[in-house]
Amino acid sequence: MKPLIITIDGPAGTGKSTAAKLLASRLEIPFLDTGAMYRAVAWRCLRNNIAFDDEKLVAFQTQTLQFDFSNSHLLIDGADPGEELRTQEVSEAASVIATLQTVRNLLVDQQRKLAGVYSLVTEGRDQGTVVFPNATCKFFLTATAQTRAQRRWMDLQKTDPAASKEVILKEIQQRDERDRNRKAAPLKPAADAIVIDNSEKSLEQVAALLVEHVKQATASEA
Ligand code: C5P
Repeated sequence: MKPLIITIDGPAGTGKSTAAKLLASRLEIPFLDTGAMYRAVAWRCLRNNIAFDDEKLVAFQTQTLQFDFSNSHLLIDGADPGEELRTQEVSEAASVIATLQTVRNLLVDQQRKLAGVYSLVTEGRDQGTVVFPNATCKFFLTATAQTRAQRRWMDLQKTDPAASKEVILKEIQQRDERDRNRKAAPLKPAADAIVIDNSEKSLEQVAALLVEHVKQATASEA
């Protein structure tokens, strides 16, 4: 049977990962968090003191990373990517190294390799536009920057109650701008993507919408 590839793209903080995870578990296929791949490269560069704009050295760090799945969980160098990939420092660094074309090419190769082996719900910025132009079903999730900042601030209440909403909003807007205006694979919806604004929708409503569209797409392909 033809592997199923569902792409979910969109800016930071739209709840893509949560929606993608839920959809993947309902379809019983792995979920590929491509942001974690960029974050892993950024984390390594931070650890090894590599300048984010030194394309050759950043590419070298990228080449030696190993990606696979175990029980539908992404493994990076054989281990579950931990919370150290989710810090603000790594988020910022990831969005800078993600502008490097050589790095993108290496990670795109890895993403396509995984799709050669597994059906996937894959989530990122360029999955429907660049990596899987022939995906079974493409989604683009959006929400206002204010809504996304508010959600991120709520998430941080457990670990960083002093976090400022204004600072979070500014960081989200900066990352959006970098992702949208870069030369390499800028963030935008694929022409054939289903665009969902989830500012006013619950996770359950979004998941139900995604499942419904996937059902329709797979029925029309059969
Ligand atoms: O989605 P997440 O916030 O984890 O992604 C971290 C960064 O990696 C993003 O800000 C974006 O710049 C980059 N990224 C990308 N292409 C992808 C996934 C993530 O450029 N497919």
